[in-house]
Amino acid sequence: MHYDLIVVGAGIVGLAHAYTAARNGLSVCVIDKDAACVGASIRNFGFVTVTGQGAGDTWRRARRAREIWGEIAPQAGIDIVHQGLWLTAQRPQALSVLQEFMATEMAEGCELLSPQEAALRAPALRLDGAHGPAQAVLYSPHEARVESRTAIGLLARWLAQAHGVAFRFGEQVLEVATPRVRTARATLHAARVVVCTNAELGGLLADRIAPHGLRLCQLHMLRVEPPRGLLLPGAVMGDLSLVRYHGYSRLPAAQALHAQLEAEEGESLAHGIHLIVVQSADGSLVVGDSHHYGPVVEPFADDRVDALILRHLQEALHLPEFRVTQRWLGTYPSSPATDCLIDAPDEATRLVLVTSGTGASTAFGIAEEVFASW
Ligand SMILES: Cc1cc2nc3c(=O)[nH]c(=O)nc-3n(C[C@H](O)[C@H](O)[C@H](O)COP(=O)(O)OP(=O)(O)OC[C@H]3O[C@@H](n4cnc5c(N)ncnc54)[C@H](O)[C@@H]3O)c2cc1C
Repeated sequence: MHYDLIVVGAGIVGLAHAYTAARNGLSVCVIDKDAACVGASIRNFGFVTVTGQGAGDTWRRARRAREIWGEIAPQAGIDIVHQGLWLTAQRPQALSVLQEFMATEMAEGCELLSPQEAALRAPALRLDGAHGPAQAVLYSPHEARVESRTAIGLLARWLAQAHGVAFRFGEQVLEVATPRVRTARATLHAARVVVCTNAELGGLLADRIAPHGLRLCQLHMLRVEPPRGLLLPGAVMGDLSLVRYHGYSRLPAAQALHAQLEAEEGESLAHGIHLIVVQSADGSLVVGDSHHYGPVVEPFADDRVDALILRHLQEALHLPEFRVTQRWLGTYPSSPATDCLIDAPDEATRLVLVTSGTGASTAFGIAEEVFASW
């Protein structure tokens, strides 16, 4: 078989490249080693985040990707479960970060609300927090939330039906030597190949990946059943997010917040914990997360990490009772230097790894840039 483009990996990064190429008239085949995508793309929050992404490339890609999600989600039958972001500043140092953020171009469309205003618009938020009354709440209208575990399959099906993309699932790619792609079952040919294999750092193109010093990052995630009727106004975050998301953490005021959090929440920082809460159509909450780094992922999930995440959840929302119904782990490759690694092993081959927790938010923007310069 001969294609204009073969994509290795059917996660969001691979699908974004398949979509961009197919929309431009290329014949495309996507190959994945598993019978369906079970990687990071179905384990994440499905939180398409713009506000808080690092200034420059990541923020620009996220803004473009959000536009594309908005265009294609209805066509692919993917629901936008909720929109917007509510970030509660519990500490005075967190308020200073938000005030600095509001003075940047990235705050366009955002509002810094008093606790009283936020309580009226978002009654689920807990604003009488454990650290005293909340200082303020950042509202951003830009975010979208999709149910990743179904959205990725729906996206693949739509690409096949509406754009003629061929899919070969359950077929490991053993070698890429463009134009030849050797799998466990066949040898295929394509004018160009994009490799989007995420955390498989020792597999395809390992020699190209090795010099970048990537580590794996593992995250704890939970699904929680809240009391009936609890309705999130959008995604929810808190102070710990302000020292993790680069759009905030690289602002000068974030240093004082980091010092304060080291004093008060050292254990959470040591586990890379910050709070994201999103809601599903059935009312359940997806809650996370933690960040543990290393050359291999730890197979044994420590319950103390989940307990810390759940404490932050209770501090952020009015939750008199709740029940944890699912727990899972996810992994992505992490780079100290960049949010996304784009490499060109040769003129006809590209390696694209999102090396931060931002692939759902940026993949469509990245794919457009890859093809624009290829
Ligand atoms: C728990 C968690 C929460 C996150 N939350 C968010 C979020 O809310 N918002 C956000 O923007 N980002 C988030 N991220 C990051 C985001 O999920 C990732 O950046 C993104 O999913 C990476 O997409 P991918 O397609 O590269 O990887 P994957 O989804 O892992 O897909 C890679 C695919 O490649 C296939 N593959 C690998 N090797 C081969 C081979 N040799 N042959 C064939 N197939 C192969 C695998 O089977 C897999 O299906 C989160 C990540 C995690 C883990």
